[in-house]
Amino acid sequence: MPEHVLVTGGAGYIGAHACKALAAAGYVPVAFDNLSTGWEAAVRYGPLARGDLMDRASIDAALAQWKPVAVMHFAALSLVGESMKDPGLYWRVNVGGALNLIEATIAAGIGDFVFSSTCATYGDQDGVVLDEDTAQRPINAYGASKLAIEQMLGNFRESHGLRTVIFRYFNVAGADPAGELGEHHDPETHLIPVMLDAIGGKRGALTVFGSDYPTADGTCVRDYVHVTDLADAHVRGLRWLQAGHGSRVFCLGTGQGYSVREVLDHARVVTNRAVPVVEGARRAGDAAKLVCGSARAVTELGWQPERGLGEMIRDAWRWSQNPLY
Ligand code: UDP
Repeated sequence: MPEHVLVTGGAGYIGAHACKALAAAGYVPVAFDNLSTGWEAAVRYGPLARGDLMDRASIDAALAQWKPVAVMHFAALSLVGESMKDPGLYWRVNVGGALNLIEATIAAGIGDFVFSSTCATYGDQDGVVLDEDTAQRPINAYGASKLAIEQMLGNFRESHGLRTVIFRYFNVAGADPAGELGEHHDPETHLIPVMLDAIGGKRGALTVFGSDYPTADGTCVRDYVHVTDLADAHVRGLRWLQAGHGSRVFCLGTGQGYSVREVLDHARVVTNRAVPVVEGARRAGDAAKLVCGSARAVTELGWQPERGLGEMIRDAWRWSQNPLY
């Protein structure tokens, strides 16, 4: 009998890619999702358990029906701007939802929990290559809510012996190389999909948010990771837990990053089209340079980012020209 894994947010961008990777590794991914920002059509590698983390009974029902051996937790609200306007929403949904999930997981006797956290828990630490030991000082409610969940998991490790792998990463980009999955946010705010929509004529010019930062070309530098590489890391994290290595935090990044202009240059080459661009003011809350390393993931999980920025843009471009949802 193949092992089932409950994947919260399994109909969302990263969660759906994780479901595909889990299925390829021989697991049955059960996508637990309320479809508030996810897509039913993205659930193709295992069953959909429609439910809501705010509704404990719906979590209990899914766990009772599918009897997963582990939980992989992606579902969350994740817009920084929204989190600053309505922090209560982020504390209630992200932290309250995670608490329901963790308690349900323990009540069901499940011991292995993989949590998709974020480098937003570090806050604004410009220019430093972040790692697992960097102090966490979130500067927005989104990052604060994710840090609270990390701390909550720590408490349940102590009290109930829950085993956890926590991943922190920055900018996720790209799409399934086979074209089965991709990114679909509404509204879309992320650089790469917005840029590709501008190139494809689906929207107006891309606004570059600030070109007077203290970086080589004046635009912000970010650490982009291919969504398929990220999904692979999560499967490795699950295997790590199942092998009995114990709880661990892993940062997933390239340690290098690309500026907005470098992203635009890559897009020009990949798409062979001009990128309509206007220069704009800085966006509030943007740090000049955010990158993290992945030395621990390399040595302990055998993971490293395999797909570069060109592949991220190529796969996202293919998806944007032929989205299935
Ligand atoms: N960015 C931009 N124009 C856009 C969207 C993003 O110049 O329309 C820049 C943004 O300032 C940041 C980088 O692209 O430096 C990545 O932004 P994104 O919103 O994709 O991710 P974030 O780094 O905020 O998580």
